Amino acid sequence: MRDLSKPGHHDDDTIVMVRGTSVQGAASGTPRPGRKARRTRIFLAGAAVLSLLIIGGAWAILSRPAAIPIDTETEAQIDAAQPCHIQVSYFAPDHAIVVIDFPSLLTQGLMLDRVAALTEKAGLPRDRLLDNAELRTAIASHGDTVESYYYGHDYPAASLAKFYQLAAEENIKLNPQERWLKALLSQLGWLKPGANGAIITLPAAGGAVTPDMRAVILRHEISHGAFYTYPAYRQYAVSFWYSLTAADRAAFTNFLGRQGYDTNDTTLMLNETQAYLIFTRDPRFFNAEAVGMTPAEISQLRAGFIAGMPEFWLTPMANAPLPPAAPPAACPTGN
Ligand SMILES: [Zn+2]
Repeated sequence: MRDLSKPGHHDDDTIVMVRGTSVQGAASGTPRPGRKARRTRIFLAGAAVLSLLIIGGAWAILSRPAAIPIDTETEAQIDAAQPCHIQVSYFAPDHAIVVIDFPSLLTQGLMLDRVAALTEKAGLPRDRLLDNAELRTAIASHGDTVESYYYGHDYPAASLAKFYQLAAEENIKLNPQERWLKALLSQLGWLKPGANGAIITLPAAGGAVTPDMRAVILRHEISHGAFYTYPAYRQYAVSFWYSLTAADRAAFTNFLGRQGYDTNDTTLMLNETQAYLIFTRDPRFFNAEAVGMTPAEISQLRAGFIAGMPEFWLTPMANAPLPPAAPPAACPTGN
């Protein structure tokens, strides 16, 4: 697609043509034109330059891939709709968090399962991408499908930039969904070193995902977004982790290991612990039994975490009920 976009060539032609006109006039040995004629020539040259710039500019715009539209939405607005197409929005309380709302688990999985394999899944290489066959094997070995590998995803800009850098270095043939995400990240400026931002994702209701589960997934992923973009919160989650007893840390680590997370990654462990313990109050995703504790013990841990949380936009979400979830949308087939 980028091969069609060569606006620079048109600008160069314009400059050469204007310079050529000027040089020719001086070198031709003809008598100097009068002031009026010179003015006319300058005017015509200026008009020609302007026309070429307009044509060149229009060509550059038309030949550039269209920007991906990004609106701004709150948690409630996202929950209140079910997308039929991929929907991208800045998260209203923190624009460094970008939400990708997928029409299906399949589309979400095709775009992000290979990223998950590189970044978070246990027993897989952290320094190279899986090719298609290896990814299929990795997903199946967990008893999963492309759809079920994760129900929601969350990655900081740096992890995504690393994914695309490795893909280029290894000449991995990315699928259309992965290439679309690269275009989005490029548009956001997140492939550059030092970019501050995070992608969080959720699927539309359908299959194993009920409308209310979609709201649970979003709340969980929002907490990851805050973890990546709000340093004081990240530091708080780290200090909370180390305030736990070794037995409690082991209980959460075992639970997360059973979910397929890489238990050697301490940052991943403590990030998921804050997300499940505080922001996933749905027994289908997390409950006391899953970590071998009593409900009273979980309540105590929750209360302790929330009492010391830094005060910012995420804080009320620790206790706020989930916004109402929209019923599944009647989408045209083929999404
Ligand atoms: Zn999570």
